Amino acid sequence: MRISRFWANCTVVVLVVALTATLMIGCYTVPETGRRSLILIPESQELALGASAYAEARSQTTISTDPRHNAQVTSVGTRIASVAGRDYYEWEFTVFDDDETINAWCLPGGKIAFYSGIIPVCANDPGVATVVAHEVGHAVARHGAERMSLGLVLLAGQAAVAYATKDEQAKNRQMIMAAYGIGTALFVQLPYSRRHEYEADRIGLMLMADAGYDPRESVYFWRRMQKLGEARGGKPPEFLSTHPSDAHRIAQLQQYMPEALERYYAATGLTPPPSSRGTVTTPSSGTSLRSSPILRSGAR
Ligand SMILES: [Zn+2]
Repeated sequence: MRISRFWANCTVVVLVVALTATLMIGCYTVPETGRRSLILIPESQELALGASAYAEARSQTTISTDPRHNAQVTSVGTRIASVAGRDYYEWEFTVFDDDETINAWCLPGGKIAFYSGIIPVCANDPGVATVVAHEVGHAVARHGAERMSLGLVLLAGQAAVAYATKDEQAKNRQMIMAAYGIGTALFVQLPYSRRHEYEADRIGLMLMADAGYDPRESVYFWRRMQKLGEARGGKPPEFLSTHPSDAHRIAQLQQYMPEALERYYAATGLTPPPSSRGTVTTPSSGTSLRSSPILRSGAR
């Protein structure tokens, strides 16, 4: 009898969670990829959270006073932001004075931080553009809000499992809850995190091209990162630690390179070399940043 009540409870909670998720799915269409994402929090709240977390990070970390680094990150960042189609974002760029940290991040609302340690790996403006555009890619895809929403769903799932197992023995209950935790981390959170990285790379590639930076430089940047990871004896730079393998991401960048090059030549007015004419078109299956009704206002 206890088993049948358990399954009855499970059925009810699964139905409730599935119904809620179904109603919510499709709240947001990611530019470029066209993926429908589940976002349960309003954008105003997302932007407010981003702004307050950014202010806190700035107050707790030493800000670089190097005029060259600050000017480079701000000028490249402003150029990328100008094609991101988010005119209502209050873009901010900060360089933190930390040569040991090879990292950069972006909070909702276009709040971008660079650590001075990543600037030598960037090597040049297109290298900085690769990193900024990747981070801006996370912002326009609203990955932060999606992660928060996923957290809410998993929390609801956890409560549902706890309710469904309330009549179980404590030992069994613990095992079921642990299995839920491990299962969601392995099969939900990790794949989401990887998907976000590939998505930010793809959007970033198009943004840097639209802003007039040669998209092929992104491949050189990731190769430098790869070498750095190898030189550090298996301890990857922070910028890599949550990211997919370089080989896979370089393969994806090359897959979308023809479209990016076409957009780069259109943005700069440069003439493609004769050998590449007619071979650089790869139609995008997703929504273009330039054609997206949500993003059109600020795009070139
Ligand atoms: Zn990333």
